[in-house]
Amino acid sequence: MPFSTIIGHDKPLAILRRALGKDRLPHAYLFLGPEGVGKKTVALALARAIQCEESASDFCGRCANCMRVTNRNHPDVRVLEPASGKKEISIQQVRDLERELSLKPFSGRRKIAVVDPARLMNTPAQNALLKTLEEPPRDSLIILISTSTGGLLPTLISRCVRLSFTPLAVDVVAELLVARKGMRQEQARFLAGLSMGSPGRALSAELELLVERRRVWLEKICSLGAGDYQAAMAVGGELAAEKEESLRFLEWAQGWYRDIMVYAIQKNSDRILNPDCEEVIRQQANRYSLERLLLLRSRAARTAARIQRNVNRRLALENFFIQTLRMS
Ligand SMILES: [Zn+2]
Repeated sequence: MPFSTIIGHDKPLAILRRALGKDRLPHAYLFLGPEGVGKKTVALALARAIQCEESASDFCGRCANCMRVTNRNHPDVRVLEPASGKKEISIQQVRDLERELSLKPFSGRRKIAVVDPARLMNTPAQNALLKTLEEPPRDSLIILISTSTGGLLPTLISRCVRLSFTPLAVDVVAELLVARKGMRQEQARFLAGLSMGSPGRALSAELELLVERRRVWLEKICSLGAGDYQAAMAVGGELAAEKEESLRFLEWAQGWYRDIMVYAIQKNSDRILNPDCEEVIRQQANRYSLERLLLLRSRAARTAARIQRNVNRRLALENFFIQTLRMS
């Protein structure tokens, strides 16, 4: 079960494999990318490759060390998450981790900690981890996993080597669902499209809920009448309440405008990401020109990037909706 069995993420994997091959791994990585896209899968693959008894730069998946990482009981590999029933990773958890990292590896080559999701460390916990990163114990590796740098101390970020993970192609996620879950092609494509290139999301129990929320928001955009600025601002304000929801919506919006564009060009729903909304997409295809759809799609992407940088969400979303109305 070597690195080559991991689907997608060629670029971060190449970087990691090079560092591993030259034995020049840093003390800390920050894996950044959308939810459920495979960051933790790669982190655990790296942990296996470091501890594997069979290979120095890859992993076999069968030796005792590889199996222990898979079963989450390797003494030198810790996955730090909020304790059960808690919403945060506490300073005590980080202190315990610090102590563990300072010990010699028990049966592997390094002590490894995967913090997932890193933004759930509260500020005292992040400060404690920062101290560890300022004087990292020998033979230790910390991998922070996060959807964005928001909520993480800049000083903590600056101590880590950043690696970006991007969504997988819809076809790739669909293939994965067919191979791993035995789904029918059609169903797999539908879920893969809605997951926006995230296998974790496509397989999550929450997907059904997300499918419904996506429909509600997309219908809201479509129902905004020309010049109805007050309604546009109200929708923007409502959406701004939660950062994650805002970002998810803007991702959906990009897929939505893409679908309308695809429909306008090929006049059928073969390759659309939202096949359950085909009728609305067909109607919308008559509403916009291709140039406008391209512009709307890039506006959604730009608004998401601004929100990631923690600008005023409400203003950013109100702007986005007003521009949408101007262009319809
Ligand atoms: Zn192995």
